Amino acid sequence: MLDKKILALVKTGKGKGLVELKEVPIPQINETEVLIEIKAAGICGTDLHIYNDEFPYWPPVILGHEFAGVIAAKGEDVKDWNVGDRVVGEPHTLACGKCWLCRTGNRQICPEKRSPGWGIDGCFAKYMRYPEPELLHRIPDSLSFKEAALVEPTANVVTDVLERGRVEPADTVVVVGPGPIGLLAAMAAKSGGADKAIMIGTEGDEEFRLSTARNIKSIDYVLNVSKDDVLSSVMDLTAGRGADLVVEASGAEGGITTALQLVRKLGRITAIGLTGKETIKFPYDSGMLKAAELYFNLSTSYTSWDTAINLINTGKIEVKPLITHIGGLPKWQEFFADLENKKGIKGIFLP
Ligand SMILES: [Zn+2]
Ligand SMILES: [Zn+2]
Repeated sequence: MLDKKILALVKTGKGKGLVELKEVPIPQINETEVLIEIKAAGICGTDLHIYNDEFPYWPPVILGHEFAGVIAAKGEDVKDWNVGDRVVGEPHTLACGKCWLCRTGNRQICPEKRSPGWGIDGCFAKYMRYPEPELLHRIPDSLSFKEAALVEPTANVVTDVLERGRVEPADTVVVVGPGPIGLLAAMAAKSGGADKAIMIGTEGDEEFRLSTARNIKSIDYVLNVSKDDVLSSVMDLTAGRGADLVVEASGAEGGITTALQLVRKLGRITAIGLTGKETIKFPYDSGMLKAAELYFNLSTSYTSWDTAINLINTGKIEVKPLITHIGGLPKWQEFFADLENKKGIKGIFLP
């Protein structure tokens, strides 16, 4: 089997577009590495940003970093893993291990890090070489590969909403932006003890994203800024105080302004979405007058992964309603276009 060619979705060079489905050899592994057979791979906003040349990458590179699979082969020095183990893995490969960030347990933002999907070959292929098996996590048999492909984005919201945003019992949590991360953030907030989760979107989100939010049982209220008076609704639901925690998951100027309006005095805002712009209009004084806290976030903590696996496996976070597209790699153009145009939520490749 190891001399056969496989299909892979490759970013072939620097620039907009330049993505092709290509035949590539099955990757070779050395004695410390594992080969993972990819069973399901999630399409992330980052993949779309790389397609559009809006995120760093080292071409030619196979796209994709959200994977669930099985260990198909291992190097002779790999002791902790066996062929057949069902796994997901942190994308924090090639961190240096020596810098201040690595030494303080923050390898996820080491400047040397080169993740699968942009720094090294990723998971939009049948097989992926994975150089650091210590970054893998086992998944229980009860968790399907399709659901497990959403562990990485779920680990993001565990990091940003539960760990850094510090959800407390009885909190009212408002989420601005009902994309996959926003929907997961609302469910994470409830799993962490929040009393109410309120999802806010725009008219463009209505058809797929807000309608999905209305069907998720842990999301209590769904508001559309084009139809609802969002400020008075949130004030009514919080005895006039405002939200304890706002998750900004839209990356849009309007969404960021809304987050500042809805947070209570001494409240917290945890920001997940990139704006894609060098600078934006920002209501600085409004944050100051509320003495609010604002956290910027990037990537996932070590501790968030096992929490994410547990929350999905126990059904506290429902990932299945988020999967709107599922199919083989040849469908990539259709899937990328639909996700870019908000005609779907999460796409999964079965390579
Ligand atoms: Zn991702
Ligand atoms: Zn480092």
